[in-house]
Formats: sequence, C-alpha cells, structure tokens
Amino acid sequence: DAMQLPDILFTQGFGTRRVCLGLVQQGRVSVGGPAQVCADPSAVFEPEGLVFYVEGQRWEYRHRAYLMLYKPAGFECSQRPSAWPSVYTLLPAPLRQRPGGAASGVQAVGRLDQDTTGLLLLSDDGAFIHRLSSPRHHVPKVYEVTCRHPVSEPQVQRLLAGVVLDDDPRPVRADACEAVGSHGLRLTLTQGKYHQVKRMVAAVSNRVEALHRSRIGPITLPADLAPGQWRWLEPEQVQALM
Ligand code: URA
Repeated sequence: DAMQLPDILFTQGFGTRRVCLGLVQQGRVSVGGPAQVCADPSAVFEPEGLVFYVEGQRWEYRHRAYLMLYKPAGFECSQRPSAWPSVYTLLPAPLRQRPGGAASGVQAVGRLDQDTTGLLLLSDDGAFIHRLSSPRHHVPKVYEVTCRHPVSEPQVQRLLAGVVLDDDPRPVRADACEAVGSHGLRLTLTQGKYHQVKRMVAAVSNRVEALHRSRIGPITLPADLAPGQWRWLEPEQVQALM
C-alpha cells in the first residue's frame, strides 16, 4: 500500500522517524531521479521497487532484504569481531540499521571463516535465515578448496565415504567431491559444522590453503560480482531457496 516518504525511509534503515522526517523536509530526498527533490513529507508513493535518492545515493525499496555478498578474506562474519573487521562493515549503513525483528539490520545465513572467501547470503527475514540454517534443510553448498599437498583419488574417495571428526563419532561425508587440477578439490556439503571443510580435508591428511564458497543451493556467485560487493537477490532466487 502507498506510504508517506518519511515512513518509507524509516523502514529502509535511514534512521529514526524524526531523522527520516528531517531528511525529507530538508530536501535531501529525491524520487524518480536524483534531481527530483520531494520535500513534502505527506507525499505518498507505492513503495515496492521504488527508486529514491538520499543525499544523492540511489536506493531501492525492499519490504524485506535478501542479498548476496562476495565475502573477501580478512573479514569476520560477526557483529562483534575479535580480530578482523566485520563483514557487516562492507554493507551500506541502511542495511545494517533497518528496523525490525530481534536484532536490527540484516544477518548472515551461517558463517564463513575469516580467511574464507565467496558467497554469503544475508537477510532481515528471521524465518528465511532460520530455515536455511536448519540442519534439516540440507541446502547443498559448494566449496572450491586449494590444498597444500597434491589431491589423490583415495582422498577423494574417503571424503565421499565419510570421515570422523573429533567432536562426533558419526562420520561426515561430502555429497559430491572431485579433484580439480593437482591441488584443487570441489566439495559439496549439506551440513555446516564448525570449520567442516578444513577439518574434513585434515582428516584425509591434506590441508586447506584457501577456501572459497561458489554456490548455495540454486544461487551461484555471479562472475561480475567483485570481492566486497553485494547485490539484492531476485524474488525468484529467494523463492528457489525456500
Ligand atoms: N568450512 C570451513 O572450514 N570454513 C568455512 O568457512 C566454511 C566451511
């Protein structure tokens, strides 16, 4: 339904209701084009997909935020990182501040290690995050592994058959595993235990030198998304994940 411009800004994370009202009244918000200032706080717009500009910065209204981020190495997937900057610092402030739910802002679906790169999904939809993180959901995740030692066929076979890690007597297995070149592995997992790829590779007497997640279920990291960049998921991509 149609909404007033300050309310639209508020839902998108541009600050308190008072701050959002001020942004409009002070002529800092444009709708339709960067030069089409709308300083009337009572003007109403159909919000879904609305393109507007706040202090010249382009924004697209989304009722719920679903996005992908190309996580670079050297960032922690935590709101309160201990040693490295937080991945959340890679996102614009409105995504970190949008209201709603228990925590404000978008949250990552699961975590990647500080030194792992690749596809990370984030959302402010608690049900979406919960469903995708649930061990019962079994969404396959594809990892590209660079190993220290040459990858052997017996190592590939053991990863497929299942290896025992130190915290659980039940073996964990790769749903798919293939050697890529001399030192590479492409591994598909449907679980997400702590450091799972690194521990599985160590269990077959090799060692992870570099780890990259290239796919989560139907979503592949796009070739034209650079490390550190994010983009909205298309509604069909969100549907396909659920
Ligand atoms: N497995 C790991 O060991 N690290 C990650 O970041 C993801 C999966």
